[in-house]
Amino acid sequence: MEKITSFTVDHLRLVPGVYVSRIDQVAGTPITTFDLRMTKPNCEPVMNTAEIHTIEHLAATFLRNHKEFAEKTIYFGPMGCRTGFYLILSGEYTSKDIIPLMIEMYQFMADFEGDIPGAAAKDCGNYLDMNLPMAKYLSKKYLDEVLLSITEQQLNYPN
Ligand SMILES: [Zn+2]
Repeated sequence: MEKITSFTVDHLRLVPGVYVSRIDQVAGTPITTFDLRMTKPNCEPVMNTAEIHTIEHLAATFLRNHKEFAEKTIYFGPMGCRTGFYLILSGEYTSKDIIPLMIEMYQFMADFEGDIPGAAAKDCGNYLDMNLPMAKYLSKKYLDEVLLSITEQQLNYPN
């Protein structure tokens, strides 16, 4: 089988950032897939499942309630390698276009207090597997070290 596009990105040269992975045409509408890379692949510890799960619940809730992007949000979920997340939006974007949205979203998560949305047996398949303090810590780290001072190298995949 052919190697799919996302495996052709050189993970040895990747730094945490916000990248456009692909733009697909679905029934005549462009759909943009973003890679939100929160840790440096194969260089620093990956995130644990509990904090990834918490970020998934918080970010999905944030996006689906957003005044501008609720209607455009198709998917938000974790990468299997536990180094980041996928965001899929309806429309054609550059990674720079969504930095304000990502700052807003990661600020929301860094500041979050109270009950995690959807963290109940009725609403989730593993609702006890949550770690809000670590989700907040990682969100703040990504905000401070990546989003608030993002460089071209953190917006475009190495060729
Ligand atoms: Zn869940």
